[in-house]
Amino acid sequence: MKGDSKNLGFSTRAVHAGQPPDPTTGSVSVPIYQTSTYAMDELGKHKGFEYARVQNPTRSALEANVASLEGGVSGHAFSSGMAAISAILTLVKAGDHVIASHNVYGGTYRFFTQILERYNLSFSWVDTTDVANIEAAMTDSTRLVFLETPTNPMMGVSDIAAAAELAHAHDALLAVDNTFMSPYFQRPLALGADIVMHSATKFLNGHSDALGGLLVTAREKEAEWFAFVQKSAGAVLGPFDSFLILRGIKTLAVRMERHEASGRKVAEFLNAHDKVVRVLYPGLPDHPGRELQQRQATGFGALISFDLGSHAGAKTFLDRLRVLTLAESLGGVETLISQPATMTHASVPADRRAELGITDGLVRVSVGLEDVDDLIADLTQALDAV
Ligand SMILES: *Cc1c(COP(=O)(O)O)cnc(C)c1O
Repeated sequence: MKGDSKNLGFSTRAVHAGQPPDPTTGSVSVPIYQTSTYAMDELGKHKGFEYARVQNPTRSALEANVASLEGGVSGHAFSSGMAAISAILTLVKAGDHVIASHNVYGGTYRFFTQILERYNLSFSWVDTTDVANIEAAMTDSTRLVFLETPTNPMMGVSDIAAAAELAHAHDALLAVDNTFMSPYFQRPLALGADIVMHSATKFLNGHSDALGGLLVTAREKEAEWFAFVQKSAGAVLGPFDSFLILRGIKTLAVRMERHEASGRKVAEFLNAHDKVVRVLYPGLPDHPGRELQQRQATGFGALISFDLGSHAGAKTFLDRLRVLTLAESLGGVETLISQPATMTHASVPADRRAELGITDGLVRVSVGLEDVDDLIADLTQALDAV
């Protein structure tokens, strides 16, 4: 199909894969098929579409597009990133053991510990930045390794290829939450992962105006299972949100370049500022994951965490900002800033937060597409008040 060829570059596939002009009208953008069902030609004969939970052409276009960008066999769109993670966890069953990065997204931790542990699944939370910790946590019942890299908000970098090799040696699958990097900077399936997951709410959509989750699989076996989960559990993405995310992805390559260029500048500015206790960004020379990040990804991204030393310092600073927006989420055109301890990671118990280094003075910024000089001026005036 036009635009799907593996020989085409990333940006070309971002614009075209999965979305040839509409056969009926020639419409160059995929229509929003706002329908719940499809008329049959005659009993026993339909056009490949029966009911919208199972198939929707707008959703299918998004799924084909992201499968092309991640280099997998098929894509699956869910109503949120958490719904996509829920679908991954249907691959394991009661009695199975899962190894997860100790510093995953707060909602992932909440879902695993407060819901899934009730179903006789067990979890080991390990510092996956050292692959030896994954190996040490392996048991005979380990069936899944769930990685996030870089992690949220501590920016720990984990070796995807080494984790894949280890998981496969123990008859387990590797799933990677690739939300922070997007397929533009990092493609886990090419490094050996079995499943890649996105909160499409973030960089893929990119405009802070839709919620969605995506899975891409390396093999048909998991692809068939996820299609079955979409049909059976039903947390699928609606046609309008599919359209918005598909539209967002068309500019992914140019947005990621700019996000990162500004991210580097903001990280360097913060690193040189005397009110800032420490800066966590894989692109800084002293970051322990820098070399690995350069090996397995083509960029450092636009997420930066930094410590202002105390809750009072963080509050004074955040309340003074005028251009940066105090809000949860990330990956939008607007620069979003948050305090993980009271916002995204509030569901992580205080003693665990302390263990992970998520202090009350820690602030996380997702650098957007504004003029970077305006961002630095705003940061400067707010830091002056601390
Ligand atoms: C936001 C996020 C999620 C959850 O996605 P939703 O779309 O909010 O459900 C999962 N992982 C990471 C890394 C995220 O940033």
